[in-house]
Amino acid sequence: MSFKEQYEEIAQIARTIFEHPELGYKEFKTSKLVEEFLKKVNPEVELQPFSTTGLRTSLGAGKPLNIAFIAELDAVYAPSHWRSDPATGAAHNCGHYTQVAIALALYKYYVETKAYENLDYTLTFIFVPAEEYLDLAYRDELLTKGTISYYGGKPEAMKLGVFDDIDIGLCVHAMGGEFDKRTIEINCDLAGFLYKQYTFKGKATHAGFDPFSAKNAYSMSTLFNVALGLSRQQMRDSEKVRMNPIVLESDMSTNVVPNRITVGSDLRTLSVEYMKEAADKMDDAARGSALALQGEVDIKTQMGYLPFVQDRYLSEFVMEAFQRNDEIEAIWNNNAISAAGDIGDLAFMMPCIQIGYSGFTGTIHGDDFKDIDPEYIYEVFPRFLTQVLEGMSGRIDRSKLYRRSFAEYEQLLASIVKVKSINGNEVKS
Ligand SMILES: [Zn+2]
Ligand SMILES: [Zn+2]
Repeated sequence: MSFKEQYEEIAQIARTIFEHPELGYKEFKTSKLVEEFLKKVNPEVELQPFSTTGLRTSLGAGKPLNIAFIAELDAVYAPSHWRSDPATGAAHNCGHYTQVAIALALYKYYVETKAYENLDYTLTFIFVPAEEYLDLAYRDELLTKGTISYYGGKPEAMKLGVFDDIDIGLCVHAMGGEFDKRTIEINCDLAGFLYKQYTFKGKATHAGFDPFSAKNAYSMSTLFNVALGLSRQQMRDSEKVRMNPIVLESDMSTNVVPNRITVGSDLRTLSVEYMKEAADKMDDAARGSALALQGEVDIKTQMGYLPFVQDRYLSEFVMEAFQRNDEIEAIWNNNAISAAGDIGDLAFMMPCIQIGYSGFTGTIHGDDFKDIDPEYIYEVFPRFLTQVLEGMSGRIDRSKLYRRSFAEYEQLLASIVKVKSINGNEVKS
């Protein structure tokens, strides 16, 4: 069986997933589809379900090295996307449906050709829920019930031990925008992010009769927004810092001076060290703004995802395969972006790469996103991936790999989310 022969079947399953988008931790139909496909291809398949919808299975188990091919099951909340689910607002405008199809293409190829037997490592396929950081009210319910401990599917899988015997993580991701040539991308580092919440507290009075003894919380938040805007000059370019302050909660009427307003913002940076530094700047701006008008501010910090530094050593195998390959015409290298992903968290524990592939039009997470070169995505690109995987066989230098524990991961998160409120009390959430 070749990628050409199985193309139509793979493209069909991709279309089915695209047409049935599901949000994170709710990918039941998608997971079922994956399960049925794996069982059809390999009646002997041993599946390890995890979390809500996650699935894991290995080929050639028991070899001394274990490489995971990771696919994300979830869709984005994007009700205005042209093919969104009218009931849930979910849409596949991050291209994860193609990741799943590519993983299935590889699985089928390796089972039917038995080519995995020639690899000197175990090849494990991991289908992970909930990469997108959204639908948080539902995830809060799951957290309360104890179904999950993390918003992100990969941290959750890490906690459950799904990656305990994995040495290397290999992911792929759609590239947004159109490309003249069939293109891949390597070493595209991603930002990490925090969620910050600032609740400004003042004193309410009648706006006409006695504004003099009021403390205007809305004005404090306005000062804060101005301070953040001006602080951008002091944020390092190379860190690609992003902040997006929005009003999360306010209860205001024109005849009362507002005494409470909550502003939320993400904070994105390319390194953990700078994330802490920039978070301090934001907190100082909030404290100063509150103080300027004699109010107070409560600060809450919630961890998003860690920055993703692609493993340069592993990317060399991709570059080498690209140079040998005559079907893919262009490669992008070293273009960091401020998007984030929970692959950053996994990459803290072990070396990971995420190879980009073109074949789409429209913007990632945009209303117009769709694939336009399915032959490249489901046939040429998976064939290329087998060249990468074959290139790794027998040639991975273990001294260039690293391993950190889940406990170390938790310690790092704790060091990031610890912040002080204006009263000097430490607030953590
Ligand atoms: Zn996305
Ligand atoms: Zn994505």
